[in-house]
Amino acid sequence: MNEELKTRLSRIMASRPPRLPGKRSAALTRQLMAIPEGRRTFLQTRMLSASERGDCIGCNQQGEPLSIEGWALPVTLESNGFAAPAEFCDCADGVSFQKRIQRQRREFVQQDMQMRRTYAQRLFGPAFMTHPSLYERNLETWPQEFERQEGVDELAHLEAEGERIYIAGIVEDYIENLNFHHIRSKGSQHGLCLIGGPGVGKTGLISCIEPLIAQKGRFMLSLYVPELLRLVKNPELAENMLKVMRTAEVLFLDDLGNPLFADPVSPEVYSLFVCVFDARLKHNRPTFITTNLDEDTLEEQFGTYILSRIQTLCHMFILPGIDLR
Ligand SMILES: [Zn+2]
Repeated sequence: MNEELKTRLSRIMASRPPRLPGKRSAALTRQLMAIPEGRRTFLQTRMLSASERGDCIGCNQQGEPLSIEGWALPVTLESNGFAAPAEFCDCADGVSFQKRIQRQRREFVQQDMQMRRTYAQRLFGPAFMTHPSLYERNLETWPQEFERQEGVDELAHLEAEGERIYIAGIVEDYIENLNFHHIRSKGSQHGLCLIGGPGVGKTGLISCIEPLIAQKGRFMLSLYVPELLRLVKNPELAENMLKVMRTAEVLFLDDLGNPLFADPVSPEVYSLFVCVFDARLKHNRPTFITTNLDEDTLEEQFGTYILSRIQTLCHMFILPGIDLR
């Protein structure tokens, strides 16, 4: 750098109004002071004189956090694949830089989710369930009450409605907190399995989850099981499907088990579900299931191992009601 340029640069630096330093700047200043004068680099000396002028040295003019060496902090890879600095400066510039990064992170997550959705939609084809928009169906429009059937006494009917309200409340809490910590004394399951006759609103209730958790950046893969089982007969397809089902942040398997069919499932279907459930259990990934079968029939069709996997993955509830369609 020639002398003229150097002078011009320092004049520009000096003419800039100092930026009110925050805690990060003060901490860096203390660390720089602790380095013996002769051992400070050119950048470190410049940082100290900027600090003496009352300027923030916790970040550069763009608000990017600086390291003790005077360079911008390296970015780290977050679990979702987004790269950002691990910490930010707390001065005004630093805070606005952090806000910009947060906006970029939200956009990244949305785009990433859209890409995964598009891929899953193509891969699972007719088994991929597209949910109705929130305006069409949500927790408010999901029917908590239903008509009392002949021969059912008033109290039993009220109890059944109470159970529907309770289960809807559990789903609502899940959407709010993304966990089931509010269900006490029931173990540490991360998902929900709704058992009930056709048309009682099992699918409708679980479907309310997807658009709301998508707003929180979570990808929920919803699959219609009868169609899925037809597709996994193709081994090449099955391999890719398995990968997606194991890793989806939230998995919803709709209509597990065949009520018209008493025999155990084929070895291919058995090993598919073992792989999916084992992987999801290992990584504590939420899994939602609806089924027309009770636990005994599930065990007959899928075996003891798969049933115990489902029971460990999911809080099991019987959803009472009549065919509401
Ligand atoms: Zn700063």
